[in-house]
Amino acid sequence: MSWEQLADILREARQLAQEDASAPPTACPDDGIPLEASHDGGLHCRFCGWRPGGRYIGDALGGL
Ligand SMILES: [Zn+2]
Repeated sequence: MSWEQLADILREARQLAQEDASAPPTACPDDGIPLEASHDGGLHCRFCGWRPGGRYIGDALGGL
């Protein structure tokens, strides 16, 4: 394997990692429950209330 091939592999791996990071989450990172649509159009975990972006449902309700 040449250095050029190795560099190509590294570039591809980095690209895949970026695609993973930009994809919206589909499951709760805390418990793995698939996210459900919430009343405000976002997603939430019905088990623990986790939301993409790190906010919990309780945070939003606290302002009401
Ligand atoms: Zn959860």
